[in-house]
Amino acid sequence: MKPRRKIAVIGAGLGGLAASIRLASAGADVTLFEKNSHAGGKLHNVKLGSHNFDFGPNTITMPEVFRNLLADAGENPEEYFHFDRLETHTKNVFSDGSFFHFSADADRTEEEIAALDPDSALGYRTYLEEVRNLYLKAEKHFLYRTFRSWRDYLSLPLAKALFGVKPLTGLDRFHRKFFPDPRVRQAFNRYATYIGSSPYMSPATFALIGHLELNDGVYFTRGGNANIAGGFLRAAEKLGVTVKLNTEITGIQTSRGKASAVTTDQEESLDVDGIVMNGDLLTQVPALIRREDRTRLTDEKINRFNPSVSAFVILAAVSTRFDLHHHHVFFSSCYKEEFAGIFDRQSYADDPTIYVCTSSKTDSSLSPDGDNLFILVNAPPLPSGKTENVDRDAYASRVFERLHQRGIDINSALVHKKTVTPGDLARNFYAYRGALYGIASNRRSDTFLRPFNQSADLKNLFFAGGSTHPGGGSPMVVLSGRNAADALLSELEKD
Ligand SMILES: Cc1cc2nc3c(=O)[nH]c(=O)nc-3n(C[C@H](O)[C@H](O)[C@H](O)COP(=O)(O)OP(=O)(O)OC[C@H]3O[C@@H](n4cnc5c(N)ncnc54)[C@H](O)[C@@H]3O)c2cc1C
Repeated sequence: MKPRRKIAVIGAGLGGLAASIRLASAGADVTLFEKNSHAGGKLHNVKLGSHNFDFGPNTITMPEVFRNLLADAGENPEEYFHFDRLETHTKNVFSDGSFFHFSADADRTEEEIAALDPDSALGYRTYLEEVRNLYLKAEKHFLYRTFRSWRDYLSLPLAKALFGVKPLTGLDRFHRKFFPDPRVRQAFNRYATYIGSSPYMSPATFALIGHLELNDGVYFTRGGNANIAGGFLRAAEKLGVTVKLNTEITGIQTSRGKASAVTTDQEESLDVDGIVMNGDLLTQVPALIRREDRTRLTDEKINRFNPSVSAFVILAAVSTRFDLHHHHVFFSSCYKEEFAGIFDRQSYADDPTIYVCTSSKTDSSLSPDGDNLFILVNAPPLPSGKTENVDRDAYASRVFERLHQRGIDINSALVHKKTVTPGDLARNFYAYRGALYGIASNRRSDTFLRPFNQSADLKNLFFAGGSTHPGGGSPMVVLSGRNAADALLSELEKD
């Protein structure tokens, strides 16, 4: 009988938790290291007084990805978390005061679009069909597999599939085909931000997010989305994973082209047969692996990757209930200018699009004494090699002022406030330049040619998370953890 494989997983974000569950259920001896005191990485609960907030993912799609991970490991997902579908999930409000809702009830969304612009409603059903097809193609060819080297792109079926997902059309251009009204288009173009990119640069491939939200639906995890991370942690421990919180990996030792051990800031060393790195590979490869051991993924190569958007977040605990939807978006007057500011000039918008998630609208017990407003404004990632350029109190006041102009007077009801900047995301999670989703998908090369899931330098080192395949966002990183675990096990089988 072969000895159990000893695997270290670096980082207990959703990707690392998923990899650990998958590896342990296949019989590996797994140790999961997390530098922070909580599991879940960017997804975690924040408590301000009696107000509970989900930090990180607020919009959950593809619930089957989370459930299947547990079911395939022999666990009953219902014992870990429960998802409720929010049928009419998002209120889109435009700068002229007009609005419509996104709903998985197609009749309702179609009617509301028609009230704004009848011509834009005409294309809605065709749009839903097209984005469903886009999603099905991506699911078949890209989501449930790793990309380990250039050779993976050379198969004819994959090349055909690539052309089938509209890589050469821009997202905004794709949406113009269906929605002549600029307000309606602005709401659909926002999907580019779900992968941290600009609708004026990213490929139409990502219109598939429209399928997830509008055909399938948006979900909320009962008790808060952080319960996904809590459930994964419990399942990992039950399956025998050794979880070491407050333990940072400080180095990866190598021997003959392979990773052989990891060292921690607790002066421990663990010999390993393989590693899944969930911490952002663009910061952690240079931090943990000596230059002479990584001649293929050099600092120069890493610095060429463009980070996704970052965020300026305000958690506002208020003493009242506002007239807000669970997901509520106040759009700016000029979307194009906002993205040009973020990506071309690395500047914060004076009139930003403001996303407010108020999960207490669905479950008031999360904040019994008033609403829990998670307010997010897209922000430029940290400038390369420079320090953060935002005054957090001044910018938070600016955002509150803009919300006041839209009828939401936060200052008069504010009990607690916490701000999180791109610099905080870089420090707390070692996110590459504070990015939310790893690498941006503004260039085709960044969308389809992300860093591979397998290290070209160390054959038993695999990557999971937003900077590798299949991409950023909570279901995608769970898939990447699962895919990386399977690929590592099959690599170790070769020995
Ligand atoms: C404000 C915000 C809003 C978001 N909104 C959404 C949303 O609505 N929907 C959605 O799907 N996604 C959303 N996302 C993105 C989503 O949170 C991420 O895609 C996902 O959580 C990333 O998971 P991950 O496992 O790749 O990485 P992370 O969550 O970053 O986990 C990596 C972990 O590795 C740890 N680590 C790094 N280096 C080391 C080391 N050397 N030793 C030990 N530990 C280490 C880090 O501390 C971290 O805990 C949002 C993100 C943010 C920040």
